[in-house]
Amino acid sequence: MKITTTFRNALWDSFSLSYGFSTAYDSTGDSHTNDVSKFMKQFGAEGEVILLDQVHGDKIIQVNERFNTTVLQQADGLITNVPGKILTIKTADCVPVLLYDPVNKAIAAVHSGWRGTKDLIAVKALSFMNKAYDTNPSDTHVILGPAIKTCCYEVKDDTASYFNKYPDSLETRNGSMYLNVKLPIIKDLKDAGVNSIQNIDSCTGCSGESLCSWRMHKTRKRQYACISL
Ligand SMILES: [Zn+2]
Repeated sequence: MKITTTFRNALWDSFSLSYGFSTAYDSTGDSHTNDVSKFMKQFGAEGEVILLDQVHGDKIIQVNERFNTTVLQQADGLITNVPGKILTIKTADCVPVLLYDPVNKAIAAVHSGWRGTKDLIAVKALSFMNKAYDTNPSDTHVILGPAIKTCCYEVKDDTASYFNKYPDSLETRNGSMYLNVKLPIIKDLKDAGVNSIQNIDSCTGCSGESLCSWRMHKTRKRQYACISL
């Protein structure tokens, strides 16, 4: 199965890097690393696909020249300043977040579901880029990919309780709570000094078959979000 493209963004298309958000893709096959390579080649990326064993934590890994790809590491974010490393995040409702610092030529890819969001994983990636590459938040561009939206994202009270400090992120309909999980990510990044935040606004739950949702479709498919210098 091929991976195809979902959405582009005019500002991000103007940057000298490669990025892509894929449609729903069955990631269980052996060829998925090759498929990601092919997917990113159309955007000019040549290099090594870096994947993680994503665990809904807040650990972020720095990818250097000789990064070992033979063992999948348990983490939910990647940063690098090395060209040709294709940082890849898989999602099926959670928010894929890509970061780009054009001044110091550094990038990050982050998996931020409700757990990663409450643990500020996107802001932690930014801090790690600052420590490792001298990244200044006000120079950094961020883009959020397709994720489940308030229309489809019903949450229980215990999950909702983590987001009470972002009142606009919660909505009550017919006695149930619904979460806008992107809103806290955007607010926290803005508070950290990021001015440039783009959002691909499609809902994985109800945008049709090109996107898949774990919650709505119990799918084994995933969307891929990739970035490479
Ligand atoms: Zn929806």
